[in-house]
Amino acid sequence: MADSKYIFKTSLIDCHVHSKSSHDSWAEPSDIVRETLKNGFLGAIITDHVDIADEGTDCLFPAYDSYRNYCSDVKKAIEAEGAYDGFILNIGAEIGESIRNQKACEKLIKELPLDSVMGSVHKIYIDGRDFVFSDYRFPELPEDFVRRVVVQYYKDVLETAKTSDIDILCHLNLINRYELKFFKQDIFDDELGEIIREILAVIIRRNIALEINGSRYSYGAYMPGPELLKIYKSMGGKLITYGSDAHTAETVGQGFDGARKMLLEVGFDKLYYYSGRKPVAYDI
Ligand SMILES: [Zn+2]
Ligand SMILES: [Zn+2]
Repeated sequence: MADSKYIFKTSLIDCHVHSKSSHDSWAEPSDIVRETLKNGFLGAIITDHVDIADEGTDCLFPAYDSYRNYCSDVKKAIEAEGAYDGFILNIGAEIGESIRNQKACEKLIKELPLDSVMGSVHKIYIDGRDFVFSDYRFPELPEDFVRRVVVQYYKDVLETAKTSDIDILCHLNLINRYELKFFKQDIFDDELGEIIREILAVIIRRNIALEINGSRYSYGAYMPGPELLKIYKSMGGKLITYGSDAHTAETVGQGFDGARKMLLEVGFDKLYYYSGRKPVAYDI
């Protein structure tokens, strides 16, 4: 569109953005459209949290809310703002703990025409209860308990990769951030390394993309960082998405410059986004 007041500047389609339908975001979908255009990004995908560990399907409410807003507010904002040619604003969902409620997962995927479905693990079930990572300060917990949490986390991520109908695996080594070692990025020993390699092998085999998550870029860290990316590349991995995991409109696209540098250094020159659940490559 020649008359757009915005200009395209940066080849980025931010595949992980939260709006007010998520429990931890107030971002207006129309503001996400404006900020994405203002920054000159190629586009963004709104992927609100759907935490489905509870039985039943009532837990899907945020996804329907997100989709409703997408069909009204997002489309109106794109029209009102006048997007430049090629601008993309898609809709997906970040499903938490999909392995614990596959029935809800299937219903969501069947009922909503999502562009991308992302799989995440934000909590685990241990010692007879839910353990939500963000509710605890890991350094204050017994070391052997933390170790069991970390191992169970990676096992749940592996199970997610093996059994869930997802397009993108989110923040593979998220647990490192709660261990407060996140600034060192890719930390794993032999036991964890074996599970992580298996996760990578499974996502490559199932054509599930690996996300580079930029939510800790201000600490100079990405999830995953260069060491895991190198292993992914050596195993033949190609599908990678970038997700800022922005929870405000102003932070859409955060951390992309550092991620691009890291990707180029490791030897990747393409990223992917999803449209109608199919990966589409673009040059970075
Ligand atoms: Zn997440
Ligand atoms: Zn997220």
